[in-house]
Amino acid sequence: MTTPSDTDALQALLDTSNRLRAHFSDDVVGKLPRVTCGGCRESRSGECAKHSKSRCKVCDQWISPQHIHIDFVGHADVTGRLLDVDPAWNWDFLATDDNGMPILDHDRNGNPVGLWITLTVGGITRKGYGSCPSNQADAVKVLIGDALRNAAMRFGVALNLWSKGERADPTAENAIAQGGKARRRLRKGEQPERVTDKAWLLDALRRAQGAEDDAELVVLEAEAKAKYDALEMTQHDGKGLRAEIDKRRRMLTQNKKEEEMSDAA
Ligand SMILES: [Zn+2]
Ligand SMILES: [Zn+2]
Repeated sequence: MTTPSDTDALQALLDTSNRLRAHFSDDVVGKLPRVTCGGCRESRSGECAKHSKSRCKVCDQWISPQHIHIDFVGHADVTGRLLDVDPAWNWDFLATDDNGMPILDHDRNGNPVGLWITLTVGGITRKGYGSCPSNQADAVKVLIGDALRNAAMRFGVALNLWSKGERADPTAENAIAQGGKARRRLRKGEQPERVTDKAWLLDALRRAQGAEDDAELVVLEAEAKAKYDALEMTQHDGKGLRAEIDKRRRMLTQNKKEEEMSDAA
């Protein structure tokens, strides 16, 4: 009998990593719609004077035709992937109170909006953060699902996609604000450390300022959410980026209005 050499151990690690990262087949990749027309998005009915809602064959939503799709993989398929790679995979709450109950982040109204977990796959443990809107039904279940997706993404699962979904109202998702709004209830020392990826932030700010249409801003928002969830952006920097995105969005809407007026003239 020989003990596995370091090379074998490294090879096993790489194999696990590659299997976790393998792309998902098209049939399990969901389509999350994002309305790109400011008029449609801001109106209560979800449609503006120029666009009427219809059934979209791609995302199966009754929605303004002016929308793009963001790919996502749902909770069940992420779990399936973890099971395939490591049947003994496991997760736990990162912090629990004296009664063993998970410590959640709450908003000002006391609604749960955030949760930290640890995910262990192939003997390696990583942290993940789940967030949800403050009025979310079944919040804890949603938080666990979101945290698992987020932690799995840090293992490389569905890294090539925007890992989102299974929320009552996906369009209500806000790239950064949700995490920012969450009131931290972790005890001292349990607060996760965030360090901004400066190179990414600079590039993101430039992209926000130079965006030619709303779709670019939507993509940027999704990236910012992933960065924030991965602890690679501080709340402060997240808010700064949020402000730039909002500013550009207002500018694009204004430009469009002016164009429409000159077209009409
Ligand atoms: Zn519209
Ligand atoms: Zn669609």
